[in-house]
Amino acid sequence: MEEQNQFLTILPDLIGSVFFLFGVSVMLFLQISRNAALKRKIFRWSLVLMMPLVLGFFWAANAPLPIILGFIPGVVIIALMNLRMIRFCGFCGKTLVNYNLIFRHKFCSDCGASLK
Ligand SMILES: [Zn+2]
Repeated sequence: MEEQNQFLTILPDLIGSVFFLFGVSVMLFLQISRNAALKRKIFRWSLVLMMPLVLGFFWAANAPLPIILGFIPGVVIIALMNLRMIRFCGFCGKTLVNYNLIFRHKFCSDCGASLK
């Protein structure tokens, strides 16, 4: 019983650490790799995997259920914004971040190739 209580106390820190390390690893990979197809796959899957990590963190931190449910649309909106903002050049493989949510990049800022 004592060990279970200790585990529950460190669970938010554990999930937060996994979330942080996972996020940093994905960001580093997206900046270092030049394989656009692989980056697209890993980026999409990382967004899907981040959602349960974020919600799991709030659950482990004993956040009330209405607050956790309230975070679901926020987490989904942030994931969709990231999908819209981050693109990968199919020619040079560069990761392109566009902070303008209305207009998307049409050309790579690095090599000038068209982004479809
Ligand atoms: Zn390019």
